[in-house]
Amino acid sequence: MARLSRAVPENAPGDLFVDDACIACDTCRALAGETFAGDEDERAFVGRQPAGPEERRRALLALVACPVAAIGSRSKEGVAEAASGFPDPFAPGVLRCGYAAESSFGAASWLVLRPDGNVLVDSPRFAAPLRARLEALGGVRTMFLTHRDDVADHRRWREALGCERVLHARDVSGSTRDVERRLEGDDPVPLGPGLLAVPVPGHTAGSAALLVDDTYLFTGDHLWGDAAGRLGASRAVCWWDWDAQAASMERLAALRFEWVLPGHGRPWRGASAAVASAEVAALAREMRGVTIRSGRG
Ligand code: SF4
Repeated sequence: MARLSRAVPENAPGDLFVDDACIACDTCRALAGETFAGDEDERAFVGRQPAGPEERRRALLALVACPVAAIGSRSKEGVAEAASGFPDPFAPGVLRCGYAAESSFGAASWLVLRPDGNVLVDSPRFAAPLRARLEALGGVRTMFLTHRDDVADHRRWREALGCERVLHARDVSGSTRDVERRLEGDDPVPLGPGLLAVPVPGHTAGSAALLVDDTYLFTGDHLWGDAAGRLGASRAVCWWDWDAQAASMERLAALRFEWVLPGHGRPWRGASAAVASAEVAALAREMRGVTIRSGRG
């Protein structure tokens, strides 16, 4: 519960506020950038109170998604309803799960609707309203964990939904030793129709991306968009091997996709698959030099 007595001074006057518990995860700005302000790596504040019902709805989704409950509403109007607002439609067949977890530093998780079983990409914070909505949407067959850092409440989701958890063997640790499926090696692995697991070692040894229908590429912390609309990766948050991450980026450039949907950072869409591929190839070349883009991850 956010505390009004700890509200940060930058907040615009009005109902919504951010308090000093904010960990600068950027979740609220990604969801409701018209309301929440501050640079991507800095503490958030309410830059402008929501102007209408849709902006209010999105701001309350951010309140629900905030991993440390740093966003408050004086009136609490609509807050209870917002708790059932996730998963929130993002693109055809793709929804944002909100409910970011502090243990994942607020990483995004995604739901992919599939006729042969829905896929959850990375683990949201466990929450009863989200569970109910996931069940209403057909449940979750597979939980694809992009890497060791964004696993959050994976075990509770497994117990609640019976999903098969997929994680690369190189990122399995004590808390994930019981995952149902371990990816091995560096070659892509088909997980089902239209689903391809793509190992991208670098950020961590066992990082993996998930390619869906040659359109959506879920990248965890390997690759992300930023608020300026650029693609990025950062040596500063590469926990394993930067050269390996650059090599993984080069391999990604050979795939067909339009969207980059990360754990941290902003979603990114290329004007076409060819543009997306060219942008990733350009980033890979930068990584072979010394350029460092934005510092998220
Ligand atoms: S979602 Fe919460 S923790 Fe993250 S930037 Fe916004 S207020 Fe801060």
